[in-house]
Amino acid sequence: MSSQINEAVIRDVITEVLSRLGSNGSAVSPAPAPAPSAPTASSSSYAPPSCGCNSGRSGGKHGVFATANEACDAAQQGFLQLQKKGIAARRKVEEIIKTMCADRAKEWGRIELEESKIGRLDHKIEKLQIIGLVPGVDWIRPDARSGDHGITLEEYTPFGVVGAITPSTHSIPTLAGNIVNIVAAGNSVVFNAHPSAARCAAMAVREFNKAIERETGIHNLVCIIEEPTLDSFKELCAHEAVRLLCVTGGPGVVKAAMQTGKRAICAGPGNPPVLVDDTACLKRAAESIIQGASYDNNLLCIGEKEVFALEHIADDLMQAMQTAGAVRLNAAQLDQLTRAAFTFKEGQGAGCPHPVVNRDLIGKDVSVLAEAAGIQVPDGTDLLFAETDENHPFVDEEQMMPFIPIVRVGSVDEGIRAALKAEHNYRHTSIIHSHNVNHMTAMARALDTTLFIKNGPCGAGLGLGGEGYLSFSIATPTGEGVTNPRTFTRVRRCVMVDNLRIY
Ligand code: NAD
Repeated sequence: MSSQINEAVIRDVITEVLSRLGSNGSAVSPAPAPAPSAPTASSSSYAPPSCGCNSGRSGGKHGVFATANEACDAAQQGFLQLQKKGIAARRKVEEIIKTMCADRAKEWGRIELEESKIGRLDHKIEKLQIIGLVPGVDWIRPDARSGDHGITLEEYTPFGVVGAITPSTHSIPTLAGNIVNIVAAGNSVVFNAHPSAARCAAMAVREFNKAIERETGIHNLVCIIEEPTLDSFKELCAHEAVRLLCVTGGPGVVKAAMQTGKRAICAGPGNPPVLVDDTACLKRAAESIIQGASYDNNLLCIGEKEVFALEHIADDLMQAMQTAGAVRLNAAQLDQLTRAAFTFKEGQGAGCPHPVVNRDLIGKDVSVLAEAAGIQVPDGTDLLFAETDENHPFVDEEQMMPFIPIVRVGSVDEGIRAALKAEHNYRHTSIIHSHNVNHMTAMARALDTTLFIKNGPCGAGLGLGGEGYLSFSIATPTGEGVTNPRTFTRVRRCVMVDNLRIY
């Protein structure tokens, strides 16, 4: 009998405890489990081979490795070290990258130009001086919800190791900006740089790591493959530790990244058109076009590449461009430059030879282009231009030279249609100079680009003279837009049921 009572009492107690637990978890308060000191599998389950020390150092030196596999293994260790050191270490890394880029801009800008041989020294330097404008740790703030059923926190948490591909057009600036974003989000990173600007990228990684090691004790947070190849790209993408890709480059690498099966944030090609209507301030339009299209010899993916101007203001616009210092080519000079700037491959294109940009002229100085066109231009000339039709190769191809074609159009509708065709659905950047909101709206809707700038140079779209923030990786085909620390995070939700709401 007594054992029956005992069993009934015990059953009741258990039922009561379970029901109270179900409705209010605070009914029992066991001692809290200690927070795990080592990272858990939630952020990355990949366990790299141990190198026999706690620093994460392996075959490479200061983050520079011979193979992608070594670099990825080391970066995984770097990630784990960063996880232990917390937000303060992320802040320190952000400060190191920004300060070093500003302090060494002149030296590193020169080194990058000497290696890549494209662009302009003044702008190579400036692109490093402005890395301070790239958003960092302050952008990683949780979102919270509070209500009758308690509180919920959505945290922006790291993936682990990010694989990043950088372009020849701005090697160190893209690398530095990516590091600020990626590490601010708590990740480590492995770079496969463009082969024609890989030595300067490796040098920067080495210098960054020396400072990071000294200031935080973390090794191999930022890694790079010393001699990048297509094979090292494939090895990097296939490595188990790499959870996310950040690809900045042209159509080939975007396609390759999307075929890897990994999630890829792709900052792809552009061919930004500019439309100028008859309500625009032509002086402002001319000066903006020159500023944007000549920047670093037109290497920017956001840079103005072709202009469509309403017929009855086209002459005035071209006059304004000459007044602002651009040099106009006549038809014969344009023809000569076109033959130097493009080769026409038989058998490609629909019935006619397809133009292919001559890499020898990409990013070259105005004086080199002028020589190819058979003229001399005054020192300090930033941009050449000429009138063309809308089917000209300079309109159709992303040419990346300090030359811009101007096309007359009969109406705004015709200009929008031609701009859409020239943009090739990259959905990257488009620009209008106008004070007519209907024209602005129509172009914005038709072009559907990631950046749409009104009445300013392209740089305004990245916070340089317009409101906003800077990044050298604008994710266009994959839709993340101007990349920032949140782009490199996993959103994780932490829920407290029926408690901790404080009113
Ligand atoms: P690129 O495509 O030649 O090279 C970019 C990177 O991809 C390099 O590291 C290169 O080695 C690698 N690569 C190229 N083809 C590859 C392939 N098939 N498989 C694997 N890797 C490959 O570009 P680039 O000439 O250095 O840079 C200019 C291009 O990048 C332009 O099209 C420009 O618009 C674009 N770009 C875009 C952004 C953006 O934010 N959207 C920024 C800068 C440059």
